[in-house]
Amino acid sequence: LSSRASGILSALDIPSSCEIPGVYDGRWKGSGETLESVCPTTGEVLAHVRSATPSELREALEKSKDAHLFLRKMPAPARGEILRQIREALAAKRDPLGALVSLEMGKIKTEGVGEVQEFVDICDYAVGLSRMMNGRVVASERPGHTILEVPNPLGVVGILTAFNFPVAVYGWNFSLSFAAGNANVWKPSPSTPLCSIAVTKIIAQVLEKNGIPGAVSALLSGGKNVGETLVGSPDIPLVSFTGSEAVGRVVGKAVQSRFGKTILELGGNNASIVMPDADLSMAVPAVFFGAVGTAGQRCTSTRRLYLHRSIAPQFLDALQKLYVSLRIGDPLVQGTLLGPLHTRAAVGVYAEAIRQLREQGAHILTGGQKYDQAEFDQGNFVQPTIAIPKHVDPADAIWSTETFAPILNVAIFDELEQAISWNNSVPQGLSSSLWTQDLRSVGKWIGPEGSDTGIVNVNVGTSGAEIGAAFGGNKSTGWGRESGGDAWKQYVRWSACTINFSDAAPLAQGVDFSA
Ligand code: NAD
Repeated sequence: LSSRASGILSALDIPSSCEIPGVYDGRWKGSGETLESVCPTTGEVLAHVRSATPSELREALEKSKDAHLFLRKMPAPARGEILRQIREALAAKRDPLGALVSLEMGKIKTEGVGEVQEFVDICDYAVGLSRMMNGRVVASERPGHTILEVPNPLGVVGILTAFNFPVAVYGWNFSLSFAAGNANVWKPSPSTPLCSIAVTKIIAQVLEKNGIPGAVSALLSGGKNVGETLVGSPDIPLVSFTGSEAVGRVVGKAVQSRFGKTILELGGNNASIVMPDADLSMAVPAVFFGAVGTAGQRCTSTRRLYLHRSIAPQFLDALQKLYVSLRIGDPLVQGTLLGPLHTRAAVGVYAEAIRQLREQGAHILTGGQKYDQAEFDQGNFVQPTIAIPKHVDPADAIWSTETFAPILNVAIFDELEQAISWNNSVPQGLSSSLWTQDLRSVGKWIGPEGSDTGIVNVNVGTSGAEIGAAFGGNKSTGWGRESGGDAWKQYVRWSACTINFSDAAPLAQGVDFSA
């Protein structure tokens, strides 16, 4: 192992050995299929991680069920205190954990560290929430009666996550779900096993110190098979799934067929609209970050850009200048803005999307190639691309599919209504942004005739959300909400409890059933 990789791993107490156990349920184990962690920058194999066998999976689930029985008896503010300690432990490892995200996933270090910060932030939020997960008292129509709406823990929550946020997405789910009193089983992406092991070790140490069963935050490394088992398990009342639309569709149906609950956080195909009165000094860098940041591998990445005719040439000129000045390379090197795509397969997806654009007669303004210089040989580096497709046909795959790569498709509009209708014409509905200084355009954009996405920004790019608001998207993005807002309410079962304090037992609606 390179000294850089082993330095990062040892700072996180991960052994640089041939095979690392990838299953935790209070005890580390794993004798199932081997997962390979590959550095997308250098092609170096970082580790082999052993996933869960079916019997290890069953055992972990049993332990998580027991762990929930323990956790549900703990008062919510006491659970909050554990989250506070986890927050401290994460913050102490912010730097090496952020570096591991860069090393294994490929995003630049400042974004890797930012992801850990997001977990720290949501822990803070959940600590506060642990004293505020309130139910309600409802006025009863019957004398001497009262109605309570009571939140209680659900049980074991299954958290299945994608490769592109290998730390934060578990954080969003775990923090709220743990505060609510649930045990959690995590099935991370098979291509980022080290990030999930590092996070689980940090959490496990805090749990052990406090005498809490480790299976309240169990880790089940593995691929599709492990995912399918969790999704099908009647012991998991809530499955929170983050990933592609294709897999989300299968997961959603499977959980629905057993009447389980889901939170689905699926693909995005996000647009920015730039009006003639926009402040371009803000809009151009924001679109640049949205389209190129994380090498276009955020669910909120900007994939479509609608420019008003009057500012289009000026905007594209300024944007191209930023693309040309881009510092590409090792994501762990300070100053790099564009790292590699996560996998070799993703380079193929990028190349195919470019081929389709060329075939359709699109004008490629910049990019469109894999980097072939020697220094990028071993990594999955592709040129960020700006394309002007020939037609704006919402049914065309170029516009309607999420390509998880830095490709930005541009179209020109004359009226805001047209741009909004293009914005809304795709199956996905995650994030969108309008650049304007006109209050009337803002009003239209955020109202009933406006954007149909879950995140609707004004003078803020599509990408980069804070944890305080509910995060999620509509339509084929899955309608899920996580993180802030009322998202915590999904991690509990609600009971409507009518209590009679009187000496009579009247029926509701005045129904008379006297014999
Ligand atoms: P993916 O769908 O390939 O995998 C996601 C997870 O599902 C992985 O853990 C995978 O092992 C598991 N899985 C695969 N097949 C399964 C099955 N049949 N049953 C159960 N689990 C199964 O996604 P990915 O390539 O890792 O991530 C990229 C996608 O995730 C993009 O579409 C992106 O937009 C989306 N994403 C969405 C959000 C959001 O909040 N909306 C956030 C991050 C990523």
